[in-house]
Amino acid sequence: MTLERRALVAILFCFHRGSVTDELVHPNVKKLLELQKVDQELASLRRDTDALPAEEAKRKKKLDELERLAQEKKDRSIKAELESRSLDKSIRQGDEEVKKLTERLNVVRNNAEYQAGLFQIEAVKKDRDRAQEDCLKILEQLETQKVDLDAANKTVAEDRAVFEQFLIEADRLRSDRRGAIEAVTEKRNATAEGIQPELHAEYQRLLMTRHGIAVCAVDTNGFCQGCYSKVTTNDRAKLMGGSSMVQCGSCQRIQFMPR
Ligand SMILES: [Zn+2]
Repeated sequence: MTLERRALVAILFCFHRGSVTDELVHPNVKKLLELQKVDQELASLRRDTDALPAEEAKRKKKLDELERLAQEKKDRSIKAELESRSLDKSIRQGDEEVKKLTERLNVVRNNAEYQAGLFQIEAVKKDRDRAQEDCLKILEQLETQKVDLDAANKTVAEDRAVFEQFLIEADRLRSDRRGAIEAVTEKRNATAEGIQPELHAEYQRLLMTRHGIAVCAVDTNGFCQGCYSKVTTNDRAKLMGGSSMVQCGSCQRIQFMPR
């Protein structure tokens, strides 16, 4: 259990036993204790909804990354598809060229032209066969890429569905809490009425910087229940008298001493 949690338990324990009495606790401190109780109720209501934006951003980032990866796979697939079409065109052009060159062989005038024609046909066939080889490789890759892309799209769709469900539930939680938070905020404003502005500001500062516990008990042995440091004899006497306000010399929390 953290120090703050133990301090909170100590405070709640005192409240439960009803041992914080008017005559022992300074009236301002008593008011602040009431306020702190309402603030803790408010903090507890807000805790879940406060965590929502960060959770939403985290989930959105993950979804964006999955979408980016799927898009990359799609782009790669389109590029391969275009390359295969271009190679297919080259193959057909090569076939046409070979056909034309072969026909031309029939009308050559001498052996030298015939040999040159054969040489040309051989060169075109070589290019055409290379294009066919490349095209087959790309078509094989395309099959694997398609399986990959389908899997990536499926993951994106599933993740998007989960994310949309999260948004619905987050909205539901927000609207469920809104009413309760409004009611407790009203109660808070009413409880805070009459507290001097300077004291209220100091209380707020402590609440923010001391993990939601600005007012804490001092135990019968004289230890601050916020930071567990020993209270001075002078402060202890003041606390027992309940006539003046005391702040911890170590953690600055506003203190009270339950009977
Ligand atoms: Zn302290």
